Amino acid sequence: MKCYVLNICLLILIYSPGRTQDTLQTNVYAQKLIKAYPDCITGIKDNYVVFKNGIKLLFDDGKAKTLAELYAQPDIEDQLRAVYVKGKTARPAELDDPGRIRNDTFFKVMYGATSAAVEQNLVTIHWLPKSANQTLRVSRINGVDKKLQAISDDLEKLPARLLPYVQQVAGTFTWRVIKGTNRLSTHSFGITMDINIGYSNYWQWDNKTTDETRKIPSYINRIPFEIVAIFEKHGFIWGGKWYHYDTMHFEYRPELLVD
Ligand SMILES: [Zn+2]
Repeated sequence: MKCYVLNICLLILIYSPGRTQDTLQTNVYAQKLIKAYPDCITGIKDNYVVFKNGIKLLFDDGKAKTLAELYAQPDIEDQLRAVYVKGKTARPAELDDPGRIRNDTFFKVMYGATSAAVEQNLVTIHWLPKSANQTLRVSRINGVDKKLQAISDDLEKLPARLLPYVQQVAGTFTWRVIKGTNRLSTHSFGITMDINIGYSNYWQWDNKTTDETRKIPSYINRIPFEIVAIFEKHGFIWGGKWYHYDTMHFEYRPELLVD
C-alpha cells in the first residue's frame, strides 16, 4: 500500500506543471548545480538530480516552508536559493545565512553516508608547507583536496602578517552534528576547514545561545577579507557571511559561487 501511494506521489511530481525537464533545463538553480559538480552529477531529469553513481534525489518538493522547516527539511532546490555574495560584504542581514540550509542526503550521496564511508575518500594535504606545514585530512571527491592545496599556495603569497589567521588550522574532518541541532555539520564530509580559532568568532559563543530563532545582538569578525577572497575563488563559502556567524569556518559549496 505504501508503495502504491508513493508511486502516485511520484507520478504527480513528474507530471505536475512547472516540473518538466524543459523547465528544469532553464532553471537557474539546476544549471548552477550541474556546473558546480561535474564529477558527481550527470544532470537533472524529471525533477530528480541524477548522480554518476546512479542515485537519484528529488530536486524540488514544491512545498512552501517556514525558516525552521527550511533548516529541518530542505530539498536540493531550497539549498540553492541562498544568495551568497562574493567579496567584501557588510554585516549579514537579520537571519540571512547563505549556505546554512543544506540537504544532508545530497552531501551523503557525494561524500559518504557514514563516517567510515567518508573516511575512505579522505587524503592528506600539506597545508602552508613553507610556513606551517600542517597535515590535514580532507575529501578527494570533487577535487576538494586539490582546491585546498591551491588555496594553501595562494595564501602563502599573501603578506606574512596575514598568515597567522590560517596557521594552526583548528579542524577539517569530524563526523558530528551542529551544536544545538540534529543536523550534520559539513565537517562530517571532509569538505570544510576551521582556520585559527584564536582569531575567530562564533555566534553561539559571543551571544551565549544555541537558539537559531532568536535575534542575536552581536556580530564580530576579525578575519581579513584577503583570506576570504582566496577561499571563495576556489569554491569555498565563508561562515562570516552568515547572521549566525562562524568566522573560522569555510566549506566547499561551489553551487553558491558559480556564475
Ligand atoms: Zn566549522
